[in-house]
Amino acid sequence: MKETSHLLCQAHKEKRKYLLETEAKTICMEYGIPVTKFKLAKNEAEAIKFAEEIGYPVVLKIVSPDIIHKSDVGGVIVNLKDANAVRNAYKQILKNVRRHKAKAKIVGMLVQEMAPFSTEVIVGAIKDPQFGPALMFGLGGIFVEVLKDVTFRIAPITEDEAREMITEVKAYPLLKGYRNMPPADIDAIVQILLNTSRLVMDYQEIKELDLNPIMVYEKGAKTVDARIILE
Ligand code: ADP
Ligand code: MG
Repeated sequence: MKETSHLLCQAHKEKRKYLLETEAKTICMEYGIPVTKFKLAKNEAEAIKFAEEIGYPVVLKIVSPDIIHKSDVGGVIVNLKDANAVRNAYKQILKNVRRHKAKAKIVGMLVQEMAPFSTEVIVGAIKDPQFGPALMFGLGGIFVEVLKDVTFRIAPITEDEAREMITEVKAYPLLKGYRNMPPADIDAIVQILLNTSRLVMDYQEIKELDLNPIMVYEKGAKTVDARIILE
């Protein structure tokens, strides 16, 4: 795919192993993986202009080739409801980042549509030296981090395998709806798994891919954060 090849080639030339969120999400879009709307701002005025175009509330995130885990350095502020909030968050994020990582090269600030909270899932891919790319699926937050409730398949996967991955995690009943959470759009997750499988099969230089989290709704889903690491 044209855009994906171009971005991977560019990262390779610049000897970067880690793609920026803007790059990873552009690749996702080319592969039909839904992501939150975003624009890269270079200054406060631009951030406000983009926030108005996208529509409040928005999220602001640091974009830096030196920062992989953005919230660890205070690089993410969510739920900004007006221009003033965007201006303050812009200043605050720069301050946080300078304090944690004074030398980080800053590309700009990502202004992003705020995805309403919903059931969070994770889709990942990791390249095994022997078996090649494998896909991972799990529910977000404690399910992955504490309970390690995840499942794997060697890529490429079929639609049936994608469905199996979703139903075999222990937390699966939560996707069928509980208390005030509506049932999640399983077909949307299946499509994301299949498209991710295509992506990692097409580009074997991808060592790790992380869509974490993806908010899943009654209809559709939205990837809120995307990370791609190259060999
Ligand atoms: P990182 O994983 O690099 O620390 P994320 O982009 O995942 O940064 O942001 C941290 C958290 O902020 C996410 O796990 C999610 O809960 C929340 N978040 C980030 N972007 C959005 C968004 N566009 N809409 C809603 N919540 C978001
Ligand atoms: Mg994340």
